[in-house]
Amino acid sequence: MSKHAHKIGALLFCPDCGTLLNLPADNETEVKCEQCGRKEPASSYEDIEIITRSHPDAFPSALAQKRKTQTKVHEGEDLNLLKVTEKCPSCGHMEAYSKELQLRSADEGSTILYTCVKCRFGWRINN
Ligand SMILES: [Zn+2]
Ligand SMILES: [Zn+2]
Repeated sequence: MSKHAHKIGALLFCPDCGTLLNLPADNETEVKCEQCGRKEPASSYEDIEIITRSHPDAFPSALAQKRKTQTKVHEGEDLNLLKVTEKCPSCGHMEAYSKELQLRSADEGSTILYTCVKCRFGWRINN
C-alpha cells in the first residue's frame, strides 16, 4: 500500500481510477473513493490544508489588524512631544505640540515647529 492519492492544487484524485476524492469530514480518518471504493487516509489532506492556511489571503483581516496596530505605535512615538499653549493659525485652538529644531547655528537662534493638537496644522516660528 505505497500508493498515494495524486495531488493537483488543493484537490486529491484516486490513484486507482482517477476520480476526484471528496474532502474528509472533521471526524473522519479516511476518504472513500465513490467510483472504486478505495480508501484514502484523511492525513493525505494535511499538507494541502497547511498550504491553504498559510496563504496571505486566508486571513486578510488578521493581517490588516496587525498593520493597524503597528501604525498606531509609530504615531505614538511621533507625538511624544512637548504640549504647549500656542494659538493655531488655522483653527484657533490653544494647544499645540512643539519641537525645537537645532539645525541652524547658535547665533541664528532656533526654529520651533508647532503642530496643532486639534487639526494637526503645522507651522514654525524662528526665534
Ligand atoms: Zn477510485
Ligand atoms: Zn488647528
